[in-house]
Amino acid sequence: MAANGALKVNAHLQVEGFPNVFAVGDCADVSEPKLAYHAGLHAAVAVSNISNSVTGKELTSYHTGNVTMMLAMGHDDGVGQFNGLKLPRCVVALAKSRDLLLWKSWREMEQNQP
Ligand SMILES: Cc1cc2nc3c(=O)[nH]c(=O)nc-3n(C[C@H](O)[C@H](O)[C@H](O)COP(=O)(O)OP(=O)(O)OC[C@H]3O[C@@H](n4cnc5c(N)ncnc54)[C@H](O)[C@@H]3O)c2cc1C
Repeated sequence: MAANGALKVNAHLQVEGFPNVFAVGDCADVSEPKLAYHAGLHAAVAVSNISNSVTGKELTSYHTGNVTMMLAMGHDDGVGQFNGLKLPRCVVALAKSRDLLLWKSWREMEQNQP
């Protein structure tokens, strides 16, 4: 474990010393903001690496992309940044505040929003 209690991982998100164990999300010692968004990206890499390790293919590496942050502040307001650039409040409100990205969860679950 790292000093903060997170699990040390390599670029393939394998836990140090345990090649068959992958760590994703907040528990993984990756130097980036701890976000659900990042946890999803980790999961995609871990899933493909589990499959690749079973089939003997080369493992994929995880790289932090542009750091994006959107904070909803009620239905019609919000603040955010993309790769260090401040986003206009109306853009955050339109993109996130109105429905808190629920459409994304429905899509990922392959369900139609009622
Ligand atoms: C106030 C707040 C706002 C946030 N806003 C955003 C945002 O807008 N966008 C974004 O992308 N991210 C946001 N985050 C970060 C996001 O919530 C986390 O990065 C994400 O939840 C991490 O997911 P995880 O599955 O790795 O861990 P968690 O969601 O923490 O899940 C870990 C689970 O393990 C359980 N657990 C712990 N110990 C044990 C045990 N011994 N046995 C069994 N179960 C155990 C916990 O109860 C928990 O349910 C926010 C976080 C906070 C606190």
